[in-house]
Amino acid sequence: MSEPSISKLAEIIKASKNTAFFGGAGVSTESNIPDFRSESGLYAAQEIYGASPEELLSRRCYDRKPELFFRYYKENLIYLDAKPNPAHIALAKMERSGLLSAIITQNVDGLHQTAGSKTVYELHGTNARHYCALCRKVYDLDYVLDPANCDNFVPKCGTCGGIVRPDVVLYGETLNWDIVQAAADAIAAADCLIVGGTSLVVYPAAGLIQYFGGSNMVLINKSDTPYDGYADLVINESIGAVLSEVFGN
Ligand code: ZN
Repeated sequence: MSEPSISKLAEIIKASKNTAFFGGAGVSTESNIPDFRSESGLYAAQEIYGASPEELLSRRCYDRKPELFFRYYKENLIYLDAKPNPAHIALAKMERSGLLSAIITQNVDGLHQTAGSKTVYELHGTNARHYCALCRKVYDLDYVLDPANCDNFVPKCGTCGGIVRPDVVLYGETLNWDIVQAAADAIAAADCLIVGGTSLVVYPAAGLIQYFGGSNMVLINKSDTPYDGYADLVINESIGAVLSEVFGN
């Protein structure tokens, strides 16, 4: 790990009054949650389910082929053994120490909250919460995974028999505007933005970071991103390794 980068990051955060973090799939893959949009995820989806992840996780698939939708969802988006990794832990520690104002994430695994983070804007929702599409009764993951509550992978509401769906934004559905607005506000208010584990090519990531008008943007990603030229500091390392180096575990 490059020592000058680590000390520069530590200096930037110390000098900043309001730091926000924007995270992508790379934050979760370090908890051994595979990125279903990656090349191997794409290949596996075609091989096993006969469609792309975007098709399988679409509103259209949920409406027309709920068995296929829920089978893919349960087998690819839920990782019961996943635990917060050093990135989640360091970010929660930063918030407790007053060094981080908000986390904006594209992940749906809820691991930031498990690690203890409080202000988390989940742009794509969360698989920690499910609700009946008809009567809106809320269910937890255990209910949804119990085959006794399901009809061929499809969880049914114990009260009205409706489909119990994940509180996740499906392809073809619109994002929750209140959450997007809150995320944009948090980014606009920040004087330091740390972007980690995302190549910034997927909507809405690229659009949201345009709201940043602060003095320091830090990109931590294993590979290059189209925004490297705009960043004040680019670190091509594991997000968990970098943040835990600065904040300990
Ligand atoms: Zn219901």
